[in-house]
Amino acid sequence: MNAPELTLSYDLHTHSTISDGSMTPKDLVIAAAEKGIDVLGLTDHDCTNGFAEACSVAESLNIKVIGGVEISCTWQNKGIHIVGINVKPDSPELQSGLAKLQQLRINRALDIGNRLKKYGIPDVFPAVEVRAGQGMMITRTHFAQQLFDMGLATSIRDAFDRYLGVGKPGYVNTQWAELAEAVSWIRAAGGISVVAHPLRYKLTASWLRRLLVDFKEVGGQGIEVVSGTASPGDIQASSEYAKRFGLLASVGSDFHGIEHGWPKLGRLPPLPKGLEPVWADWNN
Ligand code: AMP
Ligand code: MN
Ligand code: MN
Ligand code: MN
Repeated sequence: MNAPELTLSYDLHTHSTISDGSMTPKDLVIAAAEKGIDVLGLTDHDCTNGFAEACSVAESLNIKVIGGVEISCTWQNKGIHIVGINVKPDSPELQSGLAKLQQLRINRALDIGNRLKKYGIPDVFPAVEVRAGQGMMITRTHFAQQLFDMGLATSIRDAFDRYLGVGKPGYVNTQWAELAEAVSWIRAAGGISVVAHPLRYKLTASWLRRLLVDFKEVGGQGIEVVSGTASPGDIQASSEYAKRFGLLASVGSDFHGIEHGWPKLGRLPPLPKGLEPVWADWNN
């Protein structure tokens, strides 16, 4: 008789205070364990610095933390996010790649501050820098929070709609990593590269197919089929893309904190049947 299959609960896309999440890596792991997650991927934007802290509490909570990162890419002049999962954070190739993006984040934040100043908003950069924290990733989320706190936006979303989204007064068109670079850094770190939240880019079906063709061509391996913002229809569509393009399927809430838009930590629907999960050959 075969042993019963052990079904673990995976969440392979989450954020902490290292980037734009609101929980420290440690508190995130505690919250994930409370929600019944067995395997957690910490995937801060362009940075793996939360990994050691996350691991330090994981063992006693009986949860496994997997090294991860969400890499900012520019493809066809569009911002695309590639998650690297099961990466070794001490990979020199990965860290030298991320170092470039970390510098770009600082430069972009200064530019955003200057653009907003030209638009008549007082200099927010110093406050945003403090809000992000010393040595942490400065993201547009921090600008949105600052603008909201100053009463210049009615919500975080409104701050993106008014000031920070593509083409808005504070928008800076940054050239992030190429897809091929992100995939190669992730591969060098022993991880699997995954197109994050494929249906959030608002690409037409033909543009999304083009993205997946290019991603496969440079050695990309997976696609997020279940994500915190995906509707049942999105999950169905992403499953079809996974099968059609021979991509591994990933699951990640993209959790940023309970007060953020989609607090689905530990509440994700299961991966549809018939897909090869990214964790298929991990030894847990
Ligand atoms: P950045 O990587 O600094 O450009 O910031 C991107 C982050 O901003 C995303 O990872 C989301 O967390 C957040 N974000 C982007 N668009 C929106 C939006 N319309 N409403 C709320 N948060 C958003
Ligand atoms: Mn984010
Ligand atoms: Mn993303
Ligand atoms: Mn994310």
